[in-house]
Amino acid sequence: MPNVTAAEITAAIRNVPDFPKPGIQFKDITPVLADARLFAGAIDLLTENFKPGSVDAVVGIDARGFIFAAAAAVKLKAGFVPVRKKGKLPHTTHEQDYALEYGHATVAMHIDALKPGARVLLIDDLLATGGTSSAAVALVKKLGAEILEASFLIELKFLDGREKLKGFPVRSIVVY
Ligand code: AMP
Repeated sequence: MPNVTAAEITAAIRNVPDFPKPGIQFKDITPVLADARLFAGAIDLLTENFKPGSVDAVVGIDARGFIFAAAAAVKLKAGFVPVRKKGKLPHTTHEQDYALEYGHATVAMHIDALKPGARVLLIDDLLATGGTSSAAVALVKKLGAEILEASFLIELKFLDGREKLKGFPVRSIVVY
C-alpha cells in the first residue's frame, strides 16, 4: 500500500501559468521528485496494480516519463524501454507521427526494444490530448507487445486524452 496520498502529490505539483507559451498551465512535477517520500509514493501509486515479475517492460515517454518509468521498472523488476523524440535513438527505429495543436511530432522506439508478447506497463508524467501516449501505444503494438495498463501521474481530463487510449485500463493519480 502506498503511504502517500494523491492529495499530497496534488499539493506538491506546481502550476506554472503561461509556460512554455501563453495559455498553457504547466504542471511542474519537480517538487514531487525532490521530496524522497513523495517520489517513492508516486512510484508506488503508479505501479499499484502490479507485483514484481508481472510486467516484462515499463515503457516511458520522453522526457519526464523516463523518470517515473525507470523507477517503476526497478521496483517491478522489469526492463525499461524509452519512447524518444525522433532522431535521438542510435539504432534502427520504428517511428510514429502524431498531431499537435499546431503541426505534428514524431516519436521513435528501437525495433528490438520489446519481444512479441511482452507485457508492458506504459508510464508518462501527464496525459493531455493523448497524442503522445497513443503514438507510444502504436509503437508498442507494432512490436507485437501487449499493454497491460497506461498509468499517468497527472491527467488533464478536459482534454479527453483517454478517448485515444482504448483496449487497456488507463489510470491517473491526480486529475485536473
Ligand atoms: P499530449 O500528447 O497532449 O497528451 O501531451 C502529453 C505530453 O506533453 C506529456 O509527455 C507531458 O509531459 C506534456 N504536457 C502536455 N501538457 C502539459 C502540461 N500542461 N504540463 C506539463 N506537461 C504537459
